[in-house]
This record gives sequence, C-alpha cells and structure tokens, in this order.
Amino acid sequence: MSFNKKSLEDINVKGKKVLVRCDFNVPIVEGKITDENRLLGAIPTIEYLVNNNAKVILCSHLGKPKGEPKPELSLSPVAARLSELLNKKIIFAADDNVVGDKAKSAISDMNDGDIVLLQNTRFRKEETKNEENYSKELASLCDLFVNDAFGTAHRAHCSTVGVTEFVEESVCGYLIQKELKFLGEAIENAEKPFTAILGGSKVSDKINVINNLLEKVDNLLIGGAMAYTFLKAKDYKMGISRVEEDKIDYALEMMDKAKEKGVKLYLPIDHVVATEFDKNANPVITEDENIQDGYMALDIGPKTRELYAEVIAKSKTIIWNGPMGVFEFENFNKGTIAVGEAMANCDGITIIGGGDSAAAVNIFGLGDKMTHISTGGGASLEFLEGKELPGIVALNDK
Ligand code: AMP
Repeated sequence: MSFNKKSLEDINVKGKKVLVRCDFNVPIVEGKITDENRLLGAIPTIEYLVNNNAKVILCSHLGKPKGEPKPELSLSPVAARLSELLNKKIIFAADDNVVGDKAKSAISDMNDGDIVLLQNTRFRKEETKNEENYSKELASLCDLFVNDAFGTAHRAHCSTVGVTEFVEESVCGYLIQKELKFLGEAIENAEKPFTAILGGSKVSDKINVINNLLEKVDNLLIGGAMAYTFLKAKDYKMGISRVEEDKIDYALEMMDKAKEKGVKLYLPIDHVVATEFDKNANPVITEDENIQDGYMALDIGPKTRELYAEVIAKSKTIIWNGPMGVFEFENFNKGTIAVGEAMANCDGITIIGGGDSAAAVNIFGLGDKMTHISTGGGASLEFLEGKELPGIVALNDK
C-alpha cells in the first residue's frame, strides 16, 4: 500500500474541535486494565493535539456491547487511566447515547487543549453498520477527524469510515503512521533474509496471508495447530491433532508455490503432545513429525525450537503472527517462548503482528526487545494479506 495520506502536520488544529478515533479496546478485569499498550500507543497523537491547542475529543469502541449500553463495557476505566498516563484531566462524557446531550454539553464547555472522551462508540447499533445518521452525529461534534485506531482500521464503521464523509478534513494519527511504516516497510522493502513465522489455531484464518507472504519472504516457519494440516498433507500421522481436512489441498498448493518461488517452508520436525487438551495434561515429546494414535500435538518440540531459532538468528527481517502452541498452558508454552526469545536476541528488524503473539511476548517479558509490536491483530493480518484497510483508504490524500 503506497502511503500518501494526510497526517497531523498537514492540518491546522489550533482552536479546532478534533475528533480522534483511538483504539482503546483494552482487556479490563474487575475494572482494571490488564494491558495498556493501546493506551500508550495513543499518547503521541493526543499530546501533539493538546500541545497545539486543539479541543481534543477522543472516541473508541470497547468489546462487543452489540449496539446497546452495557455498564461493564463503559470507557470510564480508560478515562481514569489515560488521565494518569497523560498527567492531565480527561472529561468523560458518560453518555449512553454517545452523541447525546451530555456529550454535546461537555464539548461546548471545552477550552483549547482540553480533552473529552466519548462513551463506547458501539453502544449505538448503527456503529458497526456504518449507518449515515450516526456518522453525521459524530461529525457534528467536530471540525476535523483523526484516525489513530490501527486495530479497527480493517472495519468500515461509522467512527472509522462513515464520519470522514462529513468533516472538513480526515487525517491519520501517529500510531497509524508508525504501524504502516513498520508493517509496510517489512512487507515491501524488507532487508533479506526475510522470515515470516505463522502459527495459531487455524489454516483457514491465514489462507490469504500465507499466499501473499510466499510472494515476499525467503523463509516461512509454520507452527501452532495450523502446522498439522500441512504435515497431514505430507502423509505424516497426526493422531488426534487438529487437522482441517478441507484445507489439505490448499496446504499442498502452498507447499508447491513455496518450491516454485524458492521460499524455504519449514514445518515442525517434532512435537510436544498429550492425550487431552488440558493445562495439566502430561507433555510427551515425539521422536519426529509423526504423532501416535490417541495423542494430539499442543506445541512444537525441542528440535523444532532449535531449528526455528537458527533460521531466526540468520534473518534480517522477521515478522511473527500466531503462537507456536497452546502458550496459555505452561506445559505447552516453550515453543512460543523459544521463538520470542530467538527474535529478542536477533539483531534484525523484529515485528510482532498483534493479537496472541503480542500478548505472548508481553507475558514472557520480551516486549521491549522487539522493533515493533503491532496494536492490531486482525488489521495487521489483513495488511499482511495485501488488503487495503478501509479506515485508512477513507482518509484524505496529500
Ligand atoms: P489464533 O487465534 O488463530 O491466532 O490462534 C491462537 C490460539 O491458537 C491460541 O489460543 C493457542 O492456544 C491456539 N493454538 C496454538 N497451537 C495450538 C495447538 N497445537 N493446538 C490447539 N490450539 C493451539
């Protein structure tokens, strides 16, 4: 995707009401935010706008309230924490209608440099349908629109796409710029050897990603449950591991494509298996690719960990999406940790494509050793598929 969209420096924000679509879709357990990377990611744009005397109106969705107010999905904890992080008061417009009287009066009381946070945009059912009336209501609150929500840039909703039609200017914020710089450069101008690591539960979720990456990479390392469909396609015994029978032909096609393109496609050469999908299941290591009857693979094995770490160490650019095993279970997290550590120790550019792999590197304390951790799981996958993201397409060109 070539990048010719207007950004913050291309507009004059002084004294203007600027609506900023952030991605504050953070995990909240008992009122406490357990991973605040998305809040941290939003700070540069917010600070720029405050320092340049804009009236800053923040908005975001949180979870899936299905179009109605749900107190447990209120953005109130975000307002409190963000205010601490910015060391500045944030006025939370706790308006169940999002753009109701409370929000309007909070905004009309604003001075330059003030910050208001609107309620969860998905408290309105129109949001996810990109309906015009709600897009117009959101636009009526502001003069200018900034999209900085990379994590929802792959969704055409009122607060990401619809609103852009009814404001003077729509530009991208610093977080989106940063995401596109790292993901875009990795994909289009990667320093070689370029290695992609894909894992996670299903081949079917990553069909287009595999297809697109095979055009770009030198090495493709596959782990997670998706590897078993590939190994089954090569006639190895997979026991009771997750295999997507209807994707075996696709796996064969992709292995042929890899050969044709000169891409080295690596599959696990051993596994950690168990008789049941359970955190207390007894982990058993296989000799080779084959898995005996009654056993399912839940992680890559020690020989595979070593092999993948060697490939990673020799790479100049690495992009990773999807865990190597059931990293949520301690007995089956070693493959995911090994890949994370190999990336952390590598001198090349290391990019984590959001979602579960981002959660994993943070849980294992490797986050600050990576070049870039994307804040968008689904969005970064669609980017890796080579798709245009509607939330970015909708912004004004330079
Ligand atoms: P995804 O949502 O596709 O990125 O997949 C992430 C999920 O895949 C995680 O919750 C992992 O526990 C799961 N996963 C990874 N490897 C396996 C495996 N071998 N068997 C079952 N689930 C797995």
